[in-house]
Amino acid sequence: MQSYEDYLKTSNEYGLVANITHPTAVVDGLPGATPGELVVFESGEVGQILSLHNKQIEVLLFSRKPVRVGSKLTRTDTRLSVPVGEKLLGMTINPLGETLTNGKTPPFFKEQRDIDIVPPKITQRQRITSSFLTGVGVIDLLLPLGKGQRELVVGDRKTGKTSFLLTTILKQVQEGTIVVYAAIGKQLSDIKKLKTFFEKEKVSESIVLVAASTNESPSLIYLTPFTAMTIAEYFRDQGRDVAVIFDDLSTHAKFYRQIALIAKRFPGRESYPGDVFYTHARLLERAGNFTHPQKGEVAITCLPIAETVEANLTNYIVSNLISITDGHILFDFSIFSQGRRPAVNVPLSVTRVGKQTQDSVRRDLTRTLLAFLTQYERAKSFTHFGTELTDEIKSMLKRGKELSQILDQPTTQVIPITIAVIFAAMIWKGMLTEFDEATIDKLMSTLIAKYEKDEKTKKFLDNLVDKENVKQSLLLLEQKREEVIALCQPNKN
Ligand code: ATP
Ligand code: MG
Repeated sequence: MQSYEDYLKTSNEYGLVANITHPTAVVDGLPGATPGELVVFESGEVGQILSLHNKQIEVLLFSRKPVRVGSKLTRTDTRLSVPVGEKLLGMTINPLGETLTNGKTPPFFKEQRDIDIVPPKITQRQRITSSFLTGVGVIDLLLPLGKGQRELVVGDRKTGKTSFLLTTILKQVQEGTIVVYAAIGKQLSDIKKLKTFFEKEKVSESIVLVAASTNESPSLIYLTPFTAMTIAEYFRDQGRDVAVIFDDLSTHAKFYRQIALIAKRFPGRESYPGDVFYTHARLLERAGNFTHPQKGEVAITCLPIAETVEANLTNYIVSNLISITDGHILFDFSIFSQGRRPAVNVPLSVTRVGKQTQDSVRRDLTRTLLAFLTQYERAKSFTHFGTELTDEIKSMLKRGKELSQILDQPTTQVIPITIAVIFAAMIWKGMLTEFDEATIDKLMSTLIAKYEKDEKTKKFLDNLVDKENVKQSLLLLEQKREEVIALCQPNKN
């Protein structure tokens, strides 16, 4: 950005700050101002024009330093934009494109993009056809996602929402996807934790972290998801698949409400401004599966987080987001407190377009496992009465418990879909009855390690699940059972 004096020369207009209620200021003068235009203050601070009144204009301040009554400002004839480029990978920036360490925009970016654009039209979009794998067994098996889908991650505080997304990031980086993570109004310590996690897992070179901590001005926090989406669009245009994560949009809405109330906008439901739905819809509409001239298609998959209070999904912002997105994954505190990780409530979660991306084996298996798990949950409730159980129910309870066990995983473990399918199918078919749960867990970890290291093993296992339908796959699994179990044993040498 140029200096105040440079812009004054071109615009020939200046205004004076008449009144300040942070983060907004009322300004006299600037007759040529247009809504959304950027303004620069004498001191170098930046703001954006929020609304025009009869003789005065209202400006949104992005500054951390206070602007004083009586300071001069001029308009710039430009809109809010951020620098974009390949070099963003591995960087942590604020929503104006400045680094968090020195507050300056790095000099090497050649391109600037407007952060608030009209979402692409239907003619630029394509049907969602490929799977988006998260590396989290319970999601990939039971709630499959597609590339370009917008899936809400919703749940109470501290139920593992961020942890689930971290596993997803690890998996997606393996697949060559670029990840843009928007940390919206988080504590500085949380932002630091994220950075450390990415560095420790050696994935930071595929991630752009856009962060505005709680210490920043509410207007800057408000911009965070828009900047993140703009950066995602840049990489999409380079032909790269992108995953965008908004952590979280409930906080975003709260900061937007704060700005709107200070700007004396008419308060709507729960005091949120009337256009909060439009704001989120316009943002999330920018994700999807798009036509690309060279690649054919590229996707921006969007995973926004929303926070609930006491699992109340009818909350205004949460229900808005549920209706904008293509489904939601519900993290449940009661499941979390039973010690299950990730604590996903499968029956109450929804995925609308993911199923169309599955091959027939996975589709059949998803259907069968969902039905089985429902039966299992029902059978489990009988055990509370101390009734005598038939052998059939006992075997179902054992298999159900084993299945839940393999669907539990730590944050840093990524489960390849082939392994998840093989183990789920073998447990469901009762092919692992001689092992207890702890052993099954160990067998799976060994097989994952071999699958990732050894190309031959990978091919052999992939081939088992790559069949026309689940019946053929199960038949093959039954024939090759001994071979698979042998592979699950750690190598002696
Ligand atoms: P917040 O509301 O603060 O954003 P959150 O819903 O994002 O919380 P996390 O911070 O991801 O939740 O997780 C809460 C706690 O649960 C953390 O201490 C985390 O280590 C633990 N946790 C979550 N998922 C797992 C997992 N799969 N394995 C081990 N620990 C987990
Ligand atoms: Mg979190």
